[in-house]
Amino acid sequence: LKRVYSFNEGKLGMKALLGGKGANLAEMTTLSLPIPPGFTVTTEACRAYFTSGGKLPEGLLGEIVIALHDVEEAQSAIFGDTERPLLVSVRSGSVTSMPGMMDTILNLGLNDETVRGLAEQTGNETFAYDCYRRFIQMFGEVVLGIESNHFDQLQEQSKQTHGRSSDQEVSAEEWKELIGHYKDLVAEQNGQPFPQDVYQQLQMAVEAVFRSWNNMRAKVYRKAYGIPDEQGTAVNIQAMVFGNLGNESGTGVLFTRNPSTGMNELYGEYMVNAQGEDVVAGIRTPNPIPQLLEEQPLVYGRLEELASLLERHYRDMQDIEFTIEKGNLYLLQTRSGKRTAQAAVKIAVDLVEEGIISKEEAIQRIEPSHMDQLLHRSIDVSTPLVAIAQGLPASPGAASGRIVFDADTAENWKKDGQKVILVSVETSPDDVHGIIAAEGVLTSRGGMTSHAAVVARGMGKPCICGCDTLRIDLDSRSVSIGTLTFQEGENISIDSTSGQVYQGSLLLNEPVITPELLKLLEIADEIRTLKVYTNADTPLDAAKAREFGAEGIGLCRTEHMFFSGQRLPIVQAMILAEDQEERVLHLNRLLQMQQSDFEAMFSAMDGLPMTIRLLDPPLHEFLPNLEQLQEQQRELELSGGHVEELQRLKRTISKVHDLREINPMLGLRGVRLGILFPEIYDMQVEAIFKAAEAALRRGVDVRPGIMIPLVGHSNELKQMRELVDEVAAQVLSEEFKWFKYRVGTMIEVPRAALLADSVAQYADFFSFGTNDLTQMTFGYSRDDAEGKFLGSYMEKNILETNPFQVLDQDGVGKLIEWAVIKGKEKKPFLETGICGEHGGDSESILFCHRSGLDYVSCSPYRVPFARIAAAQAAL
Ligand code: ADP
Ligand code: MG
Ligand code: MG
Repeated sequence: LKRVYSFNEGKLGMKALLGGKGANLAEMTTLSLPIPPGFTVTTEACRAYFTSGGKLPEGLLGEIVIALHDVEEAQSAIFGDTERPLLVSVRSGSVTSMPGMMDTILNLGLNDETVRGLAEQTGNETFAYDCYRRFIQMFGEVVLGIESNHFDQLQEQSKQTHGRSSDQEVSAEEWKELIGHYKDLVAEQNGQPFPQDVYQQLQMAVEAVFRSWNNMRAKVYRKAYGIPDEQGTAVNIQAMVFGNLGNESGTGVLFTRNPSTGMNELYGEYMVNAQGEDVVAGIRTPNPIPQLLEEQPLVYGRLEELASLLERHYRDMQDIEFTIEKGNLYLLQTRSGKRTAQAAVKIAVDLVEEGIISKEEAIQRIEPSHMDQLLHRSIDVSTPLVAIAQGLPASPGAASGRIVFDADTAENWKKDGQKVILVSVETSPDDVHGIIAAEGVLTSRGGMTSHAAVVARGMGKPCICGCDTLRIDLDSRSVSIGTLTFQEGENISIDSTSGQVYQGSLLLNEPVITPELLKLLEIADEIRTLKVYTNADTPLDAAKAREFGAEGIGLCRTEHMFFSGQRLPIVQAMILAEDQEERVLHLNRLLQMQQSDFEAMFSAMDGLPMTIRLLDPPLHEFLPNLEQLQEQQRELELSGGHVEELQRLKRTISKVHDLREINPMLGLRGVRLGILFPEIYDMQVEAIFKAAEAALRRGVDVRPGIMIPLVGHSNELKQMRELVDEVAAQVLSEEFKWFKYRVGTMIEVPRAALLADSVAQYADFFSFGTNDLTQMTFGYSRDDAEGKFLGSYMEKNILETNPFQVLDQDGVGKLIEWAVIKGKEKKPFLETGICGEHGGDSESILFCHRSGLDYVSCSPYRVPFARIAAAQAAL
């Protein structure tokens, strides 16, 4: 079994065995790049080390020594030799990059004898002892576990004594003196003198690197990023090159493109006369890379050459470690560079244009989180900030404003031109106007599918939920967060992409669709086959969605048109009507309002399909709540108020009583309203056709679909379809009788999915309402499940994810697949799509693509995301 691979023997494909660093060093070596020679001890050896309870596998040291001979030969130096000593670095290298998590030792192979050889060979005593003191400290810390501040203190003292302010001023004699102190420290802390045997040093270092796999910070990092504990780390042993050999030497880090903007320019920093860890340690301020062009133009030119070569070879932006030894450039590491979302998009698009990657690859390189960052406002982080609280990132974005504690105040302050953040324990349908008025929402209770979260996401409004360190005190109109207390009206800021809350009003960056993003989206459109529609209820949202590339409206919820300030009283009067006659009266007033809503929407969606859902929620959602009404009644009685008013109140109370249901979500709602109160749907359909005709007269290309919600039995749809056709016949004037419209249904009751063929007889389209479909398939109340048991279900590994966030492909998905097959069997041209919360989730979009759906519909702000995700699904 081979456990040691020379850099000549490995390649990129051997990452699992050689670790990322080792595989890349090998790959670069085969490209004949200037890599100091070396070899890699495999991750397998590391695993063997742990399974045998911390013993190096037998024979490993022998293999290492043999490999070391090749390095000695290449460098014309000998490990442990007193005249031409070879020094090496012993570097950790995990399979998945874990930057800074594990340990590395430089300058290994120095002892009291070899250091003199090094001094003579280089003719630079200061340098040799500089290396030696570095080595003792690193070895002491990493291998022997001595705390760094012990070494730092000794060094401070020494510098003070000799009046030195930087390493560069320290003389050989002073380093020697310090080394003496270091050795004493080691002996005292470790109970044994510093090891002089270089092979013993090497063995101890290899074992220490293996062990560093299990240090606390590495373990925590692995847990956070889901890296398996069994992987283990490789160890790279490599000839040292020296950046601390004077002013023509140095060390640095280079990104082949700007990692924050994506600009195609060398970006990074370097430090003259220094070794690798100095840059990280921040003992001196490094120089920006462009300065190297002035100081060492030849080296800069070579670096440029190598950067472009590496980019072309790896076909991605690289993050490179390099060292310059007396004007000679060496590469010590390369890997794909981490980058911001903006840079990711620009780099992907540029690489396509430069012919380095294909369009498909460009699409695959974009991560969902990138799109999240790009399409929302963000807090300007050019100055560092400390968060005062952390909640759930329920709807991405950022907002600043004055704290308000209720929806009415939010609305009033907004009218006065104030920016407000609605802070409350949780929200309910009564608070929607407050959410509309607010810049953002912050709740102390509720999870990712709580009311606030769902509504805010739909509106693309920043929202943090479940921020449980918040204590709201409505009596004093204040909120305390930890030790801080804020009065209503004070400013806070939220970053709901991360879930963090900040004090005060902060500067926000606007999202922009950059030319690069536009190009990327165009590429996505070429690749994807799923159509992307939007859920939009207002002309403003519709226009926004179009701008973001929506190809139609998949869901326009008409009830949102009922909730606004001046309409709600009419809606309430309509519900409370004594008889049908009175109800029709109020409906007629609503008719005009809805008609103008629809006309504006049709204009906004000129030429694109628009699916309008008829009234869906239970009527009680539009009425005041019972406790509030009873309170009003008591007050009125006490103050001996108007008899008439009291009577009206009593009537309302009894009506609210009548409408009360034990399970409203399974109650009188959706199509059931249409069956029981046909005059409501009648009015809505009339408004749609009148609006359509008016728009058509203005030359607008109108393509409506009328969607009947919550159908469970085909007869429901049959009757509603008849109603729609009748109204159309009545409303459309002679010259527009040709007008084409579609009628379809939301599939959200499992029975409708199971009997999709029978439902399809009366439907031109199916839209899977996956929120309700999930609720009814699992039998979980969406409004309660999260607070009551979903958390425990995930903790106890019954559910892997929250099915209201990530579509349950096994169960709910099966119903969808079945319904698509059965529906299309009956009607080959049946259009199918999804319009729940899931329409904006990448995994769910992938599922939709695979199940042969025609479209996904998501909130306007998710549209660009969905276009990319749909393209990724098609690859
Ligand atoms: P990390 O994974 O924490 O970056 P590395 O193994 O890459 O650790 O090394 C830490 C620093 O030491 C880097 O700056 C690297 O360039 C430098 N270094 C590693 N090996 C050598 C070597 N053989 N010669 C010179 N510098 C080296
Ligand atoms: Mg490194
Ligand atoms: Mg529904």
